[in-house]
Amino acid sequence: MRGGSIAVVGGSIAGSAFARAAARQGAERVVVLERSPGRLEDRGVGICIHDDRFAELVDGGHLDAGVRRHRLTVRRWATRDTSGGGDPRGRLLWAQPMPFHSFHWGVLWQALREGMPGNVEYRLGTTVTAVGTDGSGGGDGNGAWVADASGKREPYDLVIGADGYRSVVREALCPEARPEYAGYVCWRGSFDAARLAELPGGAEAWPEDECATVCYPGGQVVLYRIPGVNPGSTQVNWVFYAPTPAWLRLDGPTSIPAGALDDGRADELADLAERELPPYWAALVALTPPERTFLQPIYDLATPRRTAGRLLLAGDAATVVRPHNTSGAVKALQDAHAFEEAWRAGHSWAGALAAYDRERSLAGRELVDLGRRLGRAQVGAAPDWSTMDEPGMVAWWHQQLTGSGGFGGSPLGARSTVRPDVWPDTARRTAEHTDAETP
Ligand SMILES: Cc1cc2nc3c(=O)[nH]c(=O)nc-3n(C[C@H](O)[C@H](O)[C@H](O)COP(=O)(O)OP(=O)(O)OC[C@H]3O[C@@H](n4cnc5c(N)ncnc54)[C@H](O)[C@@H]3O)c2cc1C
Repeated sequence: MRGGSIAVVGGSIAGSAFARAAARQGAERVVVLERSPGRLEDRGVGICIHDDRFAELVDGGHLDAGVRRHRLTVRRWATRDTSGGGDPRGRLLWAQPMPFHSFHWGVLWQALREGMPGNVEYRLGTTVTAVGTDGSGGGDGNGAWVADASGKREPYDLVIGADGYRSVVREALCPEARPEYAGYVCWRGSFDAARLAELPGGAEAWPEDECATVCYPGGQVVLYRIPGVNPGSTQVNWVFYAPTPAWLRLDGPTSIPAGALDDGRADELADLAERELPPYWAALVALTPPERTFLQPIYDLATPRRTAGRLLLAGDAATVVRPHNTSGAVKALQDAHAFEEAWRAGHSWAGALAAYDRERSLAGRELVDLGRRLGRAQVGAAPDWSTMDEPGMVAWWHQQLTGSGGFGGSPLGARSTVRPDVWPDTARRTAEHTDAETP
């Protein structure tokens, strides 16, 4: 199947991956409509990707093997040492092997944008207000349309909803599916890793390849380093799961962006860190500037279907998985992979869209279920950490993984071969992998 016009609503990770996939499969025209007028890489936060999932996505041509990343090998689970004294980083519960790399969201997004085929047009600052499927689009009499905030309405052969958890496309395709609040939030922060030198014990107290997970009654904090925006620089990134703040309203746009937390709200976080975390980690969180601190409520969302007529859902518009599973970016990129495979094998739009739906609907629901299990075990109904030791942690972890879904995302069905036509020097960059990592 070749040709056709495609609108992609949302130009983040899923939108960019789908735009690239559609263009290289021969779409005649691809238009990405992105609400944000600015540079999306300014959303800098950390993302972790399992090494096996990364390798599959490089092989499939969805990621550049040379994208800057930071190597993690171990996840150190710890809790505050209530016996007094002890390790300022807390009592070690378990050193879990962690074959992941961390990424800067913006660097990953920029890598997706680089080398985008010339027939992909990005329209930044364009808010889509409605979409529909009514036979107004493609040459076979079927199609879809997109309306934006200026009142303009355009026909396309296919409209892809990559517009995140509050998707306008999902409203049209599957209005009954709504994100459900999980009952807790995560505070997030990042700062230049050079500032770790200000901590008692300095940066050396925290090995560079270690993802720290500090557990407390009612939540946990996950901390790891990520590459900075500038090559050679490193940032600290943390995600602090916590009870719902009394002032948080959940009836409108609910993320509180960086810089929008007033002093009282930021103090609340500082008090929580001081009260619950071992001293090293409390001091680390306190190093985060207010303008680099923000809050995201945690949601679950699984849609019963991903396609209807000429509308298709991708990434977080289709499924929102709790971050405990570290699979958000992988899920979006695997969606793009499945779409591309379905397109390559399909002889009609209907056939290709049905194949995509089959391939990804179940995978999405499994990830949502796993995210719920991890969230319950680690936050909602967490064990009494003071009683846990390594054997207890290992058993507890395996219990969470019993059932469907893979931690960090499930493997792609069949590994594709390296496609040098997509990333011309993939093989060379893979060989130079270690050079690409941050120190
Ligand atoms: C600020 C931010 C931080 C994140 N941090 C992490 C992280 O640390 N770890 C992790 O695993 N995942 C993170 N995620 C989620 C992760 O990026 C996603 O799970 C994954 O990348 C897939 O996202 P997506 O592209 O489907 O949706 P999103 O990243 O949510 O992107 C949706 C895009 O659609 C645009 N949009 C929305 N509505 C409209 C509209 N009506 N018209 C036009 N455009 C619209 C938005 O501006 C946005 O660019 C983050 C997402 C965001 C937005």
